[in-house]
This record gives sequence, structure tokens and C-alpha cells, in this order.
Amino acid sequence: STAIVWFRRDLRLADNMALHQACSAHAQVLPLYIHAPQEEGDWTPGAASRWWLHHALLALDEALRLRQGALHIRQGDSLKILLATVKQSGADTVYWNRLYEPAAIVRDMQIKAALREQGIAVNSFGGSLWQEPWHLATQEGQPYRVFTPFWRKLRTMIDKAEPLPALSRLAALRIDHGLPLAALDLLPRLPWDAGMRECWTPGEQGAHAMLELFADDAITRYATARDLPARHGTSRLSPHLHFGEITPRQIHQALVKLQRRLDARRRPDIEPYLRELGWREFAHHLLYHFPNTTTGNFNPRFDSFSWTPDKEIWLCRWQQGRTGIPLVDAGMRELWHTGWMHNRVRMVVASFLTKNLRQHWHHGARWFWDTLVDADLANNTLGWQWVAGCGADAAPYFRIFNPVSQSQKFDPKAEYLRRWLPELSRAPDALLHEPWKDEALLKRSGYPHPMVDLRASRQSALATYQALRC
Ligand code: FAD
Repeated sequence: STAIVWFRRDLRLADNMALHQACSAHAQVLPLYIHAPQEEGDWTPGAASRWWLHHALLALDEALRLRQGALHIRQGDSLKILLATVKQSGADTVYWNRLYEPAAIVRDMQIKAALREQGIAVNSFGGSLWQEPWHLATQEGQPYRVFTPFWRKLRTMIDKAEPLPALSRLAALRIDHGLPLAALDLLPRLPWDAGMRECWTPGEQGAHAMLELFADDAITRYATARDLPARHGTSRLSPHLHFGEITPRQIHQALVKLQRRLDARRRPDIEPYLRELGWREFAHHLLYHFPNTTTGNFNPRFDSFSWTPDKEIWLCRWQQGRTGIPLVDAGMRELWHTGWMHNRVRMVVASFLTKNLRQHWHHGARWFWDTLVDADLANNTLGWQWVAGCGADAAPYFRIFNPVSQSQKFDPKAEYLRRWLPELSRAPDALLHEPWKDEALLKRSGYPHPMVDLRASRQSALATYQALRC
């Protein structure tokens, strides 16, 4: 018999439960991708995500071709296309791995019911998380709202989660009327993607190469180096994880194997890294259980928070990295150039936007959504709400990142600042953190004055937050 494997954000062949199960139960499988951004509600993929998706689909198709298959690409209404493809291929079952975004959940439930009504079997699986969000609950049977107990529970479950054995057989069916990848029009018309091409290799192989690079070196210093934006101290696996090119199980097992190989002195402590993957799971847990938080405040007390009325010009300067605050500008330029930003800097730029400028966190979340190659509804929502202070397990309201002391502490030699602010690169280290102390430097370099006074805007934010607490 024939089965359709509907690829979505699981663009890999290894450790892919839907593909694995379909291959073991059916004589042949048809790998299908349907481009249907209109089905993603308010969160159709942004420009950077589309760029990644193009290359990830290309890589998946190439991997399938090495096994005499090909990715069948279509565009339009998913249900109609699935029904037509069932008819064309003679398939009796559709397989997929689950998604957790609210719009995708609703759509998938409708599709499942409609296919079953037509006598077509549907099998869906988990795969991109260690645990399905509904498998974890507090003692009272409620969803978790605080990370630490969530992680304590999840941590007890993950050691047993082994990746699937390699696919032994993949008999892929090829049929007509698929679209060429270019027809999806995912690439930018203007060539602004050079920086992204330099930094990334989308696809399953690229994901494993990135993991190897990380495991070879940075994992041994992760606990400290992860905070230094000038270093490659983190894994940079976020876009690969988002598109399902690699799974947490695979990463975990690779790191455990590495630990076994190394002697005790060189053995890395992988716990801090696993904990970060735990934050990803927590974000998905929250998104699943509280789907309205993509726009609504997790903490409803914030509904009456007095944001400063939208100021387009402020937002523009923040987006373009022209705020006059070096760490904020360096981060925003890194984002624009590479489609990625270091986590510590993400916290700083988000704090500056929501606290110093008191602009609504929605504006920041939208900009990240369009510009990040790892834009992920669960992680992005959690990140923005956490920094703004309105999220589950949020940063306390009085935590307002000071961008100057943050760069002095985490980029003491101003290497990161120099990389992204070339107009200031010849200034001495100390001045790079506070260029406004040298009027002549600003004049010479064209670097702007700070758009707000850091101290005064901090005080004003604190007062506003304090009022909310009472
Ligand atoms: P590593 O340090 O190597 O961590 C490994 C993996 O753990 C990451 O790839 C990621 O999947 C996960 N992870 C790490 N930190 C977090 C976190 N705080 N929350 C959730 N998962 C985490 N991450 C995204 O993947 N997509 C987003 O859209 C996104 N938006 C964010 C917005 C804001 C305002 C903030 C503060 C953080 C955001 N993050 C987002 C989380 C984090 O910044 C990135 O996951 C991380 O920087 C990715 O780099 P890495 O893969 O090298 O991370």
C-alpha cells in the first residue's frame, strides 16, 4: 500500500516518527510538502523564515533524491491538495508530525476529521519536542506556569528518550504535477540575504554540522561563554530546531555520547545546555495551554499597563540599529545582517524597547518575527513576554537591563560592538560603550546621540511598573 508523508516543520529524514512509521507499514511513501501560509493565522512566515524554508526544502529534496525519491511540492488549500494527492497516488493513509501553534492545531483537527470521513486513515505523531505539552502537568493536574518545577519534571523523563534507529528502507513514490521549488517564491526579490548565506547552511546536514561544531568545542565552555555575544559560545541550532531539521533527542544523545568519550577532566557539563532546550519545551507547553498569549498578556494585570503611544520614528530607529545605544544597535544590526541575534542581546534590545521606550512588546515581537531565521511563535512569545514582565515566569518588573553595563560586562573588549558598529571601530574600548562621552567622536563618526536618556527612562518605567503592582 501507499502512504503520504506530509512534511511540515519536520524537514529531516532521521528521527522522524511520521516518516519512520510510514516506511515500516507501507510498500511506498509519497513525501509531500504543501505551502499554505494563509493557514497560519496571523503568523504567516516572515521574510527571513521564508528564505530558510526555501533552502531547507531544497536540502530535503536533495536528500530524498539520493534515495531515488523526490519531494512533491504543492501550494494552496492543504485539505484539497491532500485529497487530490490521495486520489492521484492511490494512498490510503496520511502521516504527519504535529505542530503546536494554535492555527495549525485547529487546521489539523479539521483535516484529520475530513480525511477520516472519506475513509482515509491519518496517523499523527510528536517529534519536535521531548514530551508532548499535554503529557506534563502539576500535581493538581494543571499546566505548569513556572519554569523550574516544569524542568525538574521534564528532566526526569528525557534520559530515556532515544532517537529512532536510522531508516533502513525508503521506497519513495514519484508522481506528476508537483511544483518546482521556485514557484513558491520564497526568496527575496532584492538580494539582502548575503549575510544569511554566509552564516547558515539550512537543512538536516547543516544542522548536524552545526551540532558537531558546537560539541567539538563550545559545549565545554557553554555555562560561561553562552553570555558573550562576541564568541560563538552557543549552539546556533535554533533555526534548525524550528524547522525540525534536528530533534532535541538527537542533540541530547550526541552530547551524552561525547561525555562518555571524554575523560573526566575534559568532560563537559551538559546540564546548562539541556536546560535551555528545556526553555524551548516550556515555551511550547505554554503556547499549547495558553494559545491566546501570542497577543494577549499572560498576566492580565498588564492589560492596563500604560505603554507610551506608538511612535513610528522610535520604532524605526530601533529596527535600523540607530538608537545611539551601542549594544542595542549592534544587536539590531546583527539581526538584520544574519537573521539571528545572541540571546543576551535579544534580552537587552527587548528591554530597551519595552522599558526605556515603553513601546508595546507586540511591536518587537512582530519585527523579530519578520527578521529572525529562527522566528518561532512559542519561543518568541515567551521571550518578549518574559522581558516585558507580563509573561509566565517573567523577569521581575524592576529588572531593566542597562545596555551600558551589559556590554561592559559581557563584551569588555568591545569586540562585538566593533564588529557591528564599524563607524565607531577606531574608538577606544571604554568609549565604545558610551560614545556620547566624546562629542567629537559622534560628530566624526556620524553615530547618533542616544535617543533617550537611559537613567530617566528607566526611572519612568520603574514608576509605571510600580503603579501596576499596587
Ligand atoms: P543555545 O544557547 O545554543 O540554546 C539551545 C536551544 O535552546 C536554542 O536553539 C533554542 O531552541 C533553545 N533556547 C535557548 N534559549 C531559549 C529561550 N530563552 N527560550 C526558548 N528556547 C530557548 N528563540 C527562538 O528559537 N525563536 C525565537 O523567535 C526567539 N525569540 C526570542 C525573543 C526574545 C525577546 C528573547 C529574549 C529570546 C528569544 N528566543 C527565541 C530565545 C533565544 O534567544 C534563542 O533560542 C537563542 O538565542 C538561539 O541561539 P542558540 O541556538 O545558539 O541557543
